[in-house]
Amino acid sequence: NETINKIAAGEVIIRPVSVVKELMENAIDAGADQIVIIIEAGGKNRITVRDNGCGISYDDLPLAFKRHATSKLDTIEDLENINSLGFRGEALSSVSAVAKVQIITRNDPEELGSLAIFDGGKLINQRVCAYNRGTEITVRDLFFNTPARRKHMEKDKKEELIVRDLAQKIAISHSGIRIQVNCNDRIVLDTKGTGNVIDVVKELYGVDIANNLIPLDYENKPMKLTGFVGNLKTLRNHREDQIFFINGRYIKNNHLAQALDEAYEGYCMKHQHPMGIIFIELPGRMLDVNIHPAKTEIKILNESLVCLLFKQGIRETLRNANLIVDV
Ligand code: ADP
Ligand code: MG
Repeated sequence: NETINKIAAGEVIIRPVSVVKELMENAIDAGADQIVIIIEAGGKNRITVRDNGCGISYDDLPLAFKRHATSKLDTIEDLENINSLGFRGEALSSVSAVAKVQIITRNDPEELGSLAIFDGGKLINQRVCAYNRGTEITVRDLFFNTPARRKHMEKDKKEELIVRDLAQKIAISHSGIRIQVNCNDRIVLDTKGTGNVIDVVKELYGVDIANNLIPLDYENKPMKLTGFVGNLKTLRNHREDQIFFINGRYIKNNHLAQALDEAYEGYCMKHQHPMGIIFIELPGRMLDVNIHPAKTEIKILNESLVCLLFKQGIRETLRNANLIVDV
């Protein structure tokens, strides 16, 4: 079973950012409105994620670290209509299989919290302790028992940047959550949790850029677009600032990026790319999120139609903002 967990871990936990992603998603699912992330050495030595969510009860704690233990799916039909970010019940078991994990948590209705330590997947110790509502998980010595994975990690700085990038994307898509990231004792991200995306954008890009963004608010059934696109002063020669979310989930999709560029046709050069922080809403039946455990790829069914609607939506927004003129 330990071996199985290690293998499963290899699917889900590839590098420090995988841990941060899973723990942040759990915090979000737990209803937290504050998340603190602390990493050391790019997350290789230490990753802590602390939230003020619902916590885990003393009795449920060992179960939460078992493979395929999830509190988020009641029936098999739920798989079709996933609202929570996690649903596989693999994250905690996988993380604990390849690292040393300490968890402190208190479930809201309980008076006392619990503290538990896992080492290479084994529960070493669990006891009650006083704690605030919420959960703090600390992951140390990632991949200490899987040398092949350990060797595959990048330099600390690179791993840190990957973690910061993920935290930024989650901060954009969860503007109501206050997210703080601390790397080697330096605060590198601190959002206010106001619930306004533009406040997060200001935090990340500065006020000048934020002032050059055009709000998106477009609906063409079954698609809805919100967020922001850049005006012609914010064209870039890279695509890093084209950020897409589908139903609140950050995704990578080259066809959407291409469609965004095409919406600016006639107004930007081949090597130029507009900024876009774009939330796409689509009915769940048009998506397949079950494609990979790491879940950054989402398969859009009927993608070319979606891209066409998307491009029309952006184009119309630019026209309405008098940025472009179509004849
Ligand atoms: P999944 O998120 O797919 O359910 P995980 O392995 O990530 O699986 O977590 C297992 C279970 O542990 C969750 O279903 C949830 O009940 C509980 N859990 C994990 N993290 C937290 C947290 N930060 N706050 C509250 N409950 C949590
Ligand atoms: Mg999870």
